[in-house]
Amino acid sequence: MTDTITIKKSFDAHVHFRQGAMLKAVVPLTAAKWSRAIVMPNTEPPIETVETAVTYKKEIFAAVPKGNPFEPLMTLYLTKNLSPAEIEKGMADPPAGGCKIHAVKSYPYGATTNSQWGYRSILEAKDVLKKMEELGMPLLLHGEVHVNKSGEEVDPYEGEQLFIQDVLPRLLDKFPKLKISLEHLSSKIAAEFIERNGKAGQLVATITPHHLLYSREEAAPKPLLRCKPLIKTRADRERIRALVQRGLPFVFAGTDSAPHPESKKFSSPGAYGVFSAPTALELYAQVFDELAALDKLENFLSVNGPRFYGLTGCEETITLEKKDWQIEEPVVTEEGVRVWLLGDRQHGVGNETLRWQIPSA
Ligand SMILES: [Zn+2]
Repeated sequence: MTDTITIKKSFDAHVHFRQGAMLKAVVPLTAAKWSRAIVMPNTEPPIETVETAVTYKKEIFAAVPKGNPFEPLMTLYLTKNLSPAEIEKGMADPPAGGCKIHAVKSYPYGATTNSQWGYRSILEAKDVLKKMEELGMPLLLHGEVHVNKSGEEVDPYEGEQLFIQDVLPRLLDKFPKLKISLEHLSSKIAAEFIERNGKAGQLVATITPHHLLYSREEAAPKPLLRCKPLIKTRADRERIRALVQRGLPFVFAGTDSAPHPESKKFSSPGAYGVFSAPTALELYAQVFDELAALDKLENFLSVNGPRFYGLTGCEETITLEKKDWQIEEPVVTEEGVRVWLLGDRQHGVGNETLRWQIPSA
Protein backbone atom coordinates (compact mmCIF):
# COMPACT_ATOMS: atom_id res chain seq x y z
CA MET A 1 0.00 0.00 0.00
CA THR A 2 1.31 3.45 -0.88
CA ASP A 3 1.51 5.71 2.16
CA THR A 4 3.17 8.73 0.60
CA ILE A 5 3.39 10.10 -2.89
CA THR A 6 5.71 12.84 -4.17
CA ILE A 7 4.73 14.70 -7.32
CA LYS A 8 5.74 17.84 -9.16
CA LYS A 9 4.01 20.84 -7.58
CA SER A 10 0.59 21.13 -9.19
CA PHE A 11 -1.14 23.41 -11.64
CA ASP A 12 -4.70 24.55 -10.92
CA ALA A 13 -6.27 25.29 -14.30
CA HIS A 14 -9.35 27.02 -12.84
CA VAL A 15 -9.54 29.14 -9.71
CA HIS A 16 -11.58 32.13 -8.48
CA PHE A 17 -9.74 34.53 -6.20
CA ARG A 18 -12.44 37.26 -5.95
CA GLN A 19 -11.28 40.68 -4.68
CA GLY A 20 -10.47 42.66 -1.53
CA ALA A 21 -10.46 40.89 1.83
CA MET A 22 -11.68 37.61 0.31
CA LEU A 23 -8.77 37.60 -2.14
CA LYS A 24 -6.29 38.29 0.64
CA ALA A 25 -7.66 35.32 2.60
CA VAL A 26 -7.76 32.76 -0.22
CA VAL A 27 -4.70 33.51 -2.41
CA PRO A 28 -2.18 32.28 0.23
CA LEU A 29 -4.13 29.00 0.51
CA THR A 30 -3.76 28.24 -3.19
CA ALA A 31 -0.15 29.51 -3.18
CA ALA A 32 0.71 27.13 -0.33
CA LYS A 33 -0.06 24.00 -2.31
CA TRP A 34 -0.08 24.87 -6.01
CA SER A 35 2.71 26.20 -8.25
CA ARG A 36 0.53 28.16 -10.66
CA ALA A 37 -3.14 28.76 -11.34
CA ILE A 38 -5.28 30.00 -14.19
CA VAL A 39 -7.24 32.83 -12.56
CA MET A 40 -10.86 33.36 -13.60
CA PRO A 41 -11.89 36.88 -14.67
CA ASN A 42 -15.47 37.08 -13.34
CA THR A 43 -14.78 39.85 -10.88
CA GLU A 44 -16.98 42.91 -10.59
CA PRO A 45 -16.44 44.64 -12.98
CA PRO A 46 -15.07 41.79 -15.11
CA ILE A 47 -11.46 41.60 -16.33
CA GLU A 48 -11.96 42.43 -20.00
CA THR A 49 -8.82 44.43 -20.84
CA VAL A 50 -5.12 43.74 -20.45
CA GLU A 51 -4.91 46.87 -18.33
CA THR A 52 -7.40 45.59 -15.76
CA ALA A 53 -5.67 42.19 -15.80
CA VAL A 54 -2.39 43.95 -14.92
CA THR A 55 -4.04 45.65 -11.93
CA TYR A 56 -5.72 42.43 -10.83
CA LYS A 57 -2.45 40.48 -11.09
CA LYS A 58 -0.78 43.06 -8.83
CA GLU A 59 -3.57 42.66 -6.25
CA ILE A 60 -3.04 38.88 -6.31
CA PHE A 61 0.76 39.12 -6.05
CA ALA A 62 0.41 41.42 -3.05
CA ALA A 63 -1.48 38.62 -1.28
CA VAL A 64 1.11 35.90 -2.02
CA PRO A 65 3.36 35.34 1.02
CA LYS A 66 6.92 36.68 0.56
CA GLY A 67 9.32 34.17 -0.94
CA ASN A 68 6.55 31.92 -2.29
CA PRO A 69 7.12 31.42 -6.04
CA PHE A 70 3.38 30.96 -6.83
CA GLU A 71 2.42 32.47 -10.17
CA PRO A 72 -1.10 33.61 -11.10
CA LEU A 73 -1.85 33.23 -14.82
CA MET A 74 -4.32 35.82 -16.03
CA THR A 75 -7.39 35.49 -18.29
CA LEU A 76 -9.90 37.83 -19.92
CA TYR A 77 -13.69 37.58 -19.78
CA LEU A 78 -15.38 37.17 -23.15
CA THR A 79 -17.76 40.13 -22.90
CA LYS A 80 -19.19 42.16 -25.75
CA ASN A 81 -16.50 44.78 -25.01
CA LEU A 82 -13.61 42.40 -25.61
CA SER A 83 -12.01 43.25 -28.96
CA PRO A 84 -9.67 41.32 -31.27
CA ALA A 85 -7.09 44.07 -30.65
CA GLU A 86 -7.12 43.21 -26.93
CA ILE A 87 -6.36 39.57 -27.79
CA GLU A 88 -3.33 40.74 -29.78
CA LYS A 89 -2.23 42.92 -26.89
CA GLY A 90 -2.63 40.04 -24.43
CA MET A 91 -0.37 37.82 -26.53
CA ALA A 92 2.27 40.46 -27.30
CA ASP A 93 5.89 39.54 -26.63
CA PRO A 94 7.07 41.02 -24.33
CA PRO A 95 3.61 41.28 -22.79
CA ALA A 96 1.95 44.63 -22.15
CA GLY A 97 2.51 45.70 -18.53
CA GLY A 98 4.39 42.43 -17.95
CA CYS A 99 1.10 40.55 -17.96
CA LYS A 100 0.61 37.85 -20.56
CA ILE A 101 -2.98 36.75 -21.06
CA HIS A 102 -3.17 32.96 -21.03
CA ALA A 103 -6.80 32.39 -22.01
CA VAL A 104 -10.23 33.90 -22.55
CA LYS A 105 -13.14 32.62 -20.48
CA SER A 106 -16.67 32.33 -21.77
CA TYR A 107 -19.63 32.19 -19.42
CA PRO A 108 -23.13 31.65 -20.73
CA TYR A 109 -25.36 34.59 -19.86
CA GLY A 110 -26.87 34.16 -16.39
CA ALA A 111 -24.99 30.93 -15.65
CA THR A 112 -23.16 31.65 -12.44
CA THR A 113 -21.57 34.33 -10.24
CA ASN A 114 -21.09 37.57 -12.25
CA SER A 115 -21.98 35.99 -15.60
CA GLN A 116 -24.36 38.73 -16.73
CA TRP A 117 -21.78 40.25 -19.10
CA GLY A 118 -21.41 37.23 -21.39
CA TYR A 119 -22.80 36.65 -24.86
CA ARG A 120 -26.07 34.73 -25.03
CA SER A 121 -24.40 32.42 -27.54
CA ILE A 122 -20.65 31.95 -27.87
CA LEU A 123 -21.07 31.82 -31.65
CA GLU A 124 -21.92 35.55 -31.69
CA ALA A 125 -18.32 36.39 -30.69
CA LYS A 126 -16.92 35.44 -34.10
CA ASP A 127 -14.36 38.27 -34.62
CA VAL A 128 -12.72 37.66 -31.25
CA LEU A 129 -12.79 33.88 -31.72
CA LYS A 130 -11.21 34.22 -35.17
CA LYS A 131 -8.36 36.28 -33.71
CA MET A 132 -7.90 33.78 -30.87
CA GLU A 133 -7.78 30.91 -33.35
CA GLU A 134 -5.22 32.77 -35.45
CA LEU A 135 -2.93 33.57 -32.50
CA GLY A 136 -3.39 30.36 -30.49
CA MET A 137 -5.15 31.94 -27.49
CA PRO A 138 -7.12 29.23 -25.59
CA LEU A 139 -10.87 29.56 -25.07
CA LEU A 140 -12.15 28.27 -21.73
CA LEU A 141 -15.77 27.24 -21.91
CA HIS A 142 -18.37 27.12 -19.23
CA GLY A 143 -20.30 24.80 -21.52
CA GLU A 144 -23.93 25.04 -20.52
CA VAL A 145 -27.06 26.16 -22.34
CA HIS A 146 -29.68 27.90 -20.23
CA VAL A 147 -32.29 28.83 -22.79
CA ASN A 148 -33.35 26.60 -25.71
CA LYS A 149 -34.01 27.69 -29.29
CA SER A 150 -37.63 28.55 -28.44
CA GLY A 151 -36.47 30.85 -25.64
CA GLU A 152 -37.58 28.50 -22.86
CA GLU A 153 -35.42 27.85 -19.83
CA VAL A 154 -33.90 24.39 -19.95
CA ASP A 155 -33.67 21.91 -17.08
CA PRO A 156 -30.43 22.96 -15.31
CA TYR A 157 -29.38 19.31 -15.09
CA GLU A 158 -29.46 19.14 -18.91
CA GLY A 159 -27.67 22.37 -19.79
CA GLU A 160 -24.24 20.80 -20.28
CA GLN A 161 -25.59 17.97 -22.39
CA LEU A 162 -27.36 20.47 -24.67
CA PHE A 163 -24.18 22.50 -25.03
CA ILE A 164 -22.14 19.42 -25.99
CA GLN A 165 -24.76 18.22 -28.46
CA ASP A 166 -25.91 21.47 -29.97
CA VAL A 167 -23.43 24.35 -29.54
CA LEU A 168 -19.98 22.73 -29.37
CA PRO A 169 -20.14 20.93 -32.75
CA ARG A 170 -20.97 24.23 -34.47
CA LEU A 171 -18.15 26.00 -32.64
CA LEU A 172 -15.62 23.29 -33.59
CA ASP A 173 -16.88 23.36 -37.15
CA LYS A 174 -16.49 27.14 -37.51
CA PHE A 175 -13.16 27.40 -35.65
CA PRO A 176 -11.37 24.08 -36.20
CA LYS A 177 -7.97 25.31 -34.97
CA LEU A 178 -9.22 27.17 -31.88
CA LYS A 179 -7.65 25.80 -28.69
CA ILE A 180 -10.53 24.89 -26.38
CA SER A 181 -10.80 23.75 -22.78
CA LEU A 182 -14.15 22.43 -21.57
CA GLU A 183 -14.16 23.52 -17.96
CA HIS A 184 -15.50 21.52 -14.99
CA LEU A 185 -17.02 18.57 -16.85
CA SER A 186 -19.99 17.25 -14.93
CA SER A 187 -21.90 14.81 -17.12
CA LYS A 188 -21.58 11.39 -18.71
CA ILE A 189 -22.19 12.79 -22.17
CA ALA A 190 -19.44 15.41 -21.79
CA ALA A 191 -16.99 12.78 -20.50
CA GLU A 192 -17.76 10.55 -23.48
CA PHE A 193 -17.38 13.46 -25.87
CA ILE A 194 -13.94 14.43 -24.58
CA GLU A 195 -12.74 10.83 -24.43
CA ARG A 196 -13.60 10.46 -28.14
CA ASN A 197 -12.52 13.89 -29.39
CA GLY A 198 -9.92 15.23 -26.94
CA LYS A 199 -6.44 16.09 -28.19
CA ALA A 200 -3.53 17.38 -26.13
CA GLY A 201 -2.79 21.03 -26.89
CA GLN A 202 -6.04 21.42 -28.82
CA LEU A 203 -9.23 20.17 -27.15
CA VAL A 204 -8.99 19.43 -23.43
CA ALA A 205 -11.12 19.26 -20.28
CA THR A 206 -10.71 20.17 -16.63
CA ILE A 207 -12.30 18.25 -13.76
CA THR A 208 -13.15 19.53 -10.26
CA PRO A 209 -12.81 17.49 -7.06
CA HIS A 210 -16.49 17.92 -6.20
CA HIS A 211 -17.73 16.46 -9.50
CA LEU A 212 -15.51 13.42 -8.82
CA LEU A 213 -16.68 12.97 -5.24
CA TYR A 214 -20.41 13.58 -5.02
CA SER A 215 -23.71 12.72 -6.70
CA ARG A 216 -26.89 14.72 -7.16
CA GLU A 217 -28.67 12.90 -4.35
CA GLU A 218 -25.97 13.87 -1.86
CA ALA A 219 -25.29 17.35 -3.16
CA ALA A 220 -28.75 18.75 -3.86
CA PRO A 221 -29.75 19.31 -0.20
CA LYS A 222 -26.35 20.75 0.78
CA PRO A 223 -25.72 24.49 0.25
CA LEU A 224 -21.97 23.81 0.60
CA LEU A 225 -22.09 21.72 -2.60
CA ARG A 226 -24.29 24.10 -4.58
CA CYS A 227 -22.38 24.94 -7.78
CA LYS A 228 -22.61 25.34 -11.52
CA PRO A 229 -22.58 23.10 -13.39
CA LEU A 230 -24.76 21.23 -10.93
CA ILE A 231 -23.45 17.99 -9.47
CA LYS A 232 -25.20 15.25 -11.44
CA THR A 233 -26.23 11.60 -10.98
CA ARG A 234 -24.11 8.73 -9.72
CA ALA A 235 -23.83 7.45 -13.28
CA ASP A 236 -22.43 10.82 -14.39
CA ARG A 237 -19.94 10.84 -11.53
CA GLU A 238 -18.81 7.29 -12.29
CA ARG A 239 -18.24 8.18 -15.94
CA ILE A 240 -16.11 11.20 -14.97
CA ARG A 241 -14.13 9.01 -12.57
CA ALA A 242 -13.57 6.50 -15.37
CA LEU A 243 -12.33 9.36 -17.57
CA VAL A 244 -9.65 10.51 -15.11
CA GLN A 245 -8.70 6.91 -14.35
CA ARG A 246 -7.62 6.45 -17.96
CA GLY A 247 -4.83 9.02 -17.54
CA LEU A 248 -5.50 10.79 -20.84
CA PRO A 249 -3.08 13.64 -21.69
CA PHE A 250 -5.94 16.07 -22.42
CA VAL A 251 -7.71 15.76 -19.06
CA PHE A 252 -6.45 17.66 -16.00
CA ALA A 253 -7.22 19.37 -12.70
CA GLY A 254 -9.13 22.64 -12.44
CA THR A 255 -10.49 23.00 -8.93
CA ASP A 256 -13.04 25.73 -9.70
CA SER A 257 -12.43 26.81 -6.11
CA ALA A 258 -14.99 29.60 -5.72
CA PRO A 259 -15.27 31.15 -2.25
CA HIS A 260 -18.44 32.83 -1.02
CA PRO A 261 -19.14 34.41 2.37
CA GLU A 262 -21.12 32.18 4.73
CA SER A 263 -24.02 34.68 4.57
CA LYS A 264 -24.40 34.22 0.81
CA LYS A 265 -23.66 30.50 0.70
CA PHE A 266 -26.19 29.52 3.35
CA SER A 267 -28.98 31.95 2.49
CA SER A 268 -31.76 31.02 0.11
CA PRO A 269 -31.09 30.67 -2.75
CA GLY A 270 -27.45 30.03 -1.87
CA ALA A 271 -24.60 31.26 -4.05
CA TYR A 272 -23.15 28.88 -6.64
CA GLY A 273 -19.55 27.88 -6.03
CA VAL A 274 -17.55 25.39 -3.97
CA PHE A 275 -14.51 26.64 -2.06
CA SER A 276 -11.84 23.95 -2.30
CA ALA A 277 -8.44 25.67 -2.48
CA PRO A 278 -7.21 24.26 0.89
CA THR A 279 -8.46 20.68 0.31
CA ALA A 280 -8.66 20.04 -3.45
CA LEU A 281 -5.19 18.53 -3.87
CA GLU A 282 -5.78 16.06 -1.04
CA LEU A 283 -9.24 15.16 -2.38
CA TYR A 284 -7.94 14.52 -5.89
CA ALA A 285 -5.34 12.15 -4.35
CA GLN A 286 -8.13 10.42 -2.44
CA VAL A 287 -10.15 9.84 -5.63
CA PHE A 288 -7.14 8.56 -7.60
CA ASP A 289 -6.30 6.25 -4.68
CA GLU A 290 -9.87 4.90 -4.65
CA LEU A 291 -9.54 4.32 -8.40
CA ALA A 292 -6.17 2.54 -7.95
CA ALA A 293 -4.74 5.16 -10.29
CA LEU A 294 -2.20 7.03 -8.13
CA ASP A 295 0.34 6.50 -10.93
CA LYS A 296 -1.81 8.83 -13.07
CA LEU A 297 -2.10 11.57 -10.43
CA GLU A 298 1.02 13.58 -11.32
CA ASN A 299 0.13 13.96 -14.99
CA PHE A 300 -3.42 14.99 -14.07
CA LEU A 301 -2.30 17.53 -11.47
CA SER A 302 1.02 18.83 -12.70
CA VAL A 303 1.87 17.92 -16.29
CA ASN A 304 -1.15 17.98 -18.61
CA GLY A 305 -2.33 21.47 -17.62
CA PRO A 306 0.96 23.33 -18.24
CA ARG A 307 1.34 21.43 -21.51
CA PHE A 308 -2.00 22.77 -22.81
CA TYR A 309 -0.93 26.32 -21.94
CA GLY A 310 2.46 25.90 -23.61
CA LEU A 311 4.29 26.14 -20.28
CA THR A 312 7.02 23.96 -18.87
CA GLY A 313 6.30 21.76 -15.86
CA CYS A 314 7.30 22.76 -12.36
CA GLU A 315 10.45 21.22 -10.91
CA GLU A 316 9.50 21.81 -7.28
CA THR A 317 7.76 18.84 -5.65
CA ILE A 318 5.08 18.29 -3.04
CA THR A 319 4.51 15.19 -0.91
CA LEU A 320 1.13 13.82 0.13
CA GLU A 321 0.68 11.34 2.93
CA LYS A 322 -2.16 8.86 3.43
CA LYS A 323 -3.51 9.88 6.80
CA ASP A 324 -7.09 10.65 7.90
CA TRP A 325 -8.11 14.15 8.94
CA GLN A 326 -11.27 16.21 9.28
CA ILE A 327 -12.10 19.85 8.68
CA GLU A 328 -14.21 21.67 11.20
CA GLU A 329 -13.12 25.27 10.83
CA PRO A 330 -13.90 27.81 8.13
CA VAL A 331 -11.40 30.20 6.62
CA VAL A 332 -11.94 33.67 8.10
CA THR A 333 -11.15 36.88 6.23
CA GLU A 334 -9.63 39.95 7.90
CA GLU A 335 -13.18 41.38 7.97
CA GLY A 336 -14.34 38.39 10.00
CA VAL A 337 -16.27 36.81 7.11
CA ARG A 338 -16.39 33.01 7.31
CA VAL A 339 -15.91 30.79 4.26
CA TRP A 340 -16.60 27.05 4.52
CA LEU A 341 -14.49 24.45 2.75
CA LEU A 342 -15.16 21.44 0.57
CA GLY A 343 -14.88 18.37 2.79
CA ASP A 344 -16.15 20.15 5.91
CA ARG A 345 -17.34 17.66 8.51
CA GLN A 346 -20.45 19.57 9.52
CA HIS A 347 -21.63 21.19 6.27
CA GLY A 348 -20.69 18.40 3.86
CA VAL A 349 -22.58 15.15 3.38
CA GLY A 350 -21.97 14.03 6.96
CA ASN A 351 -18.90 13.28 9.10
CA GLU A 352 -16.57 13.52 6.15
CA THR A 353 -13.00 12.32 6.54
CA LEU A 354 -10.23 13.25 4.14
CA ARG A 355 -7.87 10.35 3.50
CA TRP A 356 -4.76 12.18 2.29
CA GLN A 357 -2.93 15.20 3.64
CA ILE A 358 0.13 17.32 3.00
CA PRO A 359 2.32 16.95 6.10
CA SER A 360 4.15 20.23 5.70
CA ALA A 361 1.03 22.35 5.00
ZN1 LIG B 1 -15.45 28.68 -12.28
